Amino acid sequence: MSGRLFVVSGPSGVGKGTLIARARAEVPRLELATSATTRPMRPSEQQGREYHFLSPEEFQRRLQGGEFLEHVEFAGHRYGTLRSEVERRLADGSNVILEIDVPGAREIERQLPDSVLVFIAPPDVGDLEQRLIGRGTNSPQDIATRLRIARSELEAGTDFRYVIVNDDVERAASQLTELIRAALDEETR
Ligand code: ADP
Ligand code: 5GP
Repeated sequence: MSGRLFVVSGPSGVGKGTLIARARAEVPRLELATSATTRPMRPSEQQGREYHFLSPEEFQRRLQGGEFLEHVEFAGHRYGTLRSEVERRLADGSNVILEIDVPGAREIERQLPDSVLVFIAPPDVGDLEQRLIGRGTNSPQDIATRLRIARSELEAGTDFRYVIVNDDVERAASQLTELIRAALDEETR
C-alpha cells in the first residue's frame, strides 16, 4: 500500500502553515514532513519541530549524500525536503504533506507525478504584507525580500491544478480539507 503526497505551496505569509494545521486536525494519517534549512531558528521554533536546522556545511554534506528529494535557495538560505521524511511513510501507506516554495513543488511534481499540488493565494499582495508584519517573525528587510519573491510566485501559482484563495481562514481551511479528503477517497475507490 502506498500513501498520497500533498504539496502545499504559495508565498511566504499567505497562511500555508495555518491551513495545513487545520486540515491535519481533521484528516487522520496526514503527516507533515519536516524540511531542513540553514536559516536561523526563530525564538518560537524548536530544533526538529518546525525544521531540522542545519549548518551550511551539514546541509551541503547531506545534499552530496543524496539525502534530498528537492532543495532550493530562498531569501538567502537553503531549504530542502529530506527523503527520510517522505519515502518510508509513503511506502507504509501514510499520507504526507509538504509545505514548500513554488520551484520545490514543481520539482516534486516532476519526480512524483501522482502528487497533489495545491497553491494558496492571498486575496492580494497588500494582505500578504500585513500578515507577514502581523506574524512578527521577520525583519522589515526580510519581509521586503519575501514580498519580492511573492510577486513571481503568484504568477507561477496560477498554473497549479488546485488554487485556494486564503481570504477567510475557515472557508479556506475547509476547502483544503475537502480537497485532501476527495483525493484520498479517489484512491480507495
Ligand atoms: P505561511 O506558512 O504561508 O508563511 P502562516 O500560516 O504563518 O503563513 O500565516 C501568516 C500569518 O497570517 C499568521 O500570523 C496567520 O495567523 C495569519 N493568517 C493566516 N490565514 C489568515 C487569513 N485567512 N486572514 C488573516 N490572517 C491570516
Ligand atoms: P520560512 O523561512 O518562512 O519558514 O520559509 C520560507 C519559504 O521556504 C516558504 O515559502 C516555505 O514554504 C519554503 N520551504 C520550507 N521548506 C522547504 C523545502 O523543504 N523545500 C522548498 N523548496 N521550500 C521550502
